[in-house]
Formats: sequence, C-alpha cells, structure tokens
Amino acid sequence: MSRTLPNIIITGTPGVGKTSHCELLAERTGLRHVSINQIVKDRECHEGWDKEYESWIVDEDKLLDAIEDDAKKGGCILDWHACDLFPKSWIDLVVVLRVGSATLYDRLKLRNYPEIKLQENIDSEIMDVLYQEALESYDAEIVVDLQSNTSEDMDANLDRIEAWLKQWKEDNAQ
Ligand code: ADP
Ligand code: MN
Repeated sequence: MSRTLPNIIITGTPGVGKTSHCELLAERTGLRHVSINQIVKDRECHEGWDKEYESWIVDEDKLLDAIEDDAKKGGCILDWHACDLFPKSWIDLVVVLRVGSATLYDRLKLRNYPEIKLQENIDSEIMDVLYQEALESYDAEIVVDLQSNTSEDMDANLDRIEAWLKQWKEDNAQ
C-alpha cells in the first residue's frame, strides 16, 4: 500500500462523539474529515429515506465508489456508525468510541431521536455491537476502543490518535 498518509475510521453508536472527534482531529492534524452522512446525502448514495428510523437507506456500492479515490490517496478520517463496509486494505486504524448508557441517553434525547431508534442505540452500545463489528472486520492490532464520556476523555483520545499518527509517519517514511 503506497499511501503517504493513513486512513482512520472513527466509529461507534450514534451520539458517542464521532463527529466532534473527527472535526477536532482534522483541525489538529490536517487530515480530511470525511463525513459519510454528508456524502450519502450529497452524492445520493442511498435508496431512499427510512421514515421509521429517520435515516437514509445506504447504497454501499455507490458510497464506496464515491470515496474510493480519496481513500486510495490516504489522509481520510472516516466518520460513520458502521465500519464493516470499508475494504480492509484501505484502513490503518479503527477507533471505536464508547460511552456510558445514561450519558448516551441524554445526548440522543437532546437530538429528539424517535423512541425506537433511541432504545436500539442504547442496547447496541451496551452490547458492544460496533466494537465487535470492528474486531470482526479488521485485524485486532489496528482496533482501539476509547471512552468518550467527558471532554477530558476527548482531549486524551485526540492526544493518543495524534501520537499514533506521528508514529505511523515515522514508520512509513520513504
Ligand atoms: P456522533 O457523531 O457520534 O453522533 P457527536 O460528535 O455529534 O456524536 O456528539 C453528540 C453530542 O455529544 C454533541 O452534543 C457533543 O458535543 C457531545 N459529546 C460528544 N462526545 C463528547 C465527550 N467526549 N464529552 C462531552 N460531550 C461530548
Ligand atoms: Mn455524527
């Protein structure tokens, strides 16, 4: 793989803090925040709107085509609540953010999530669904789970990812 910059997935249950982490990480590092939500919407990588869940029904093939060129160049921070669709060969680090269920409840409530979606997301967080998905989709060495309950957690996480990036650049210097 000839990327000069790595690709990082920031994943986790909705409300865990993916977008907040991605935006700050992009500011700090100059890597590109790739909001899959935005791309699905803007480039119409979907088969319509699911009314019950209030979310897009994603067309994964179309989505992968839309991001392939950027991913091959490297330097992407992929922001999405799933990770099993991205080809293994694209990805250098998978960060799974974690949060306590009471905190998650409050965050999703503030977003006016429909009750069915709220309950499902809390169950999913409690049952480690995204963390298991990451472990099943990528080598365990590149998967880390990090707490995202407080802003102190977020600062510590960003420091850690930045340190990882520095090391990656040293290891992959030509
Ligand atoms: P996601 O992109 O995973 O759905 P967001 O980044 O949009 O999550 O965060 C959801 C809400 O929770 C936002 O209001 C954000 O400010 C807050 N939040 C996220 N992570 C933390 C954290 N580690 N500490 C405090 N608040 C956080
Ligand atoms: Mn988000």
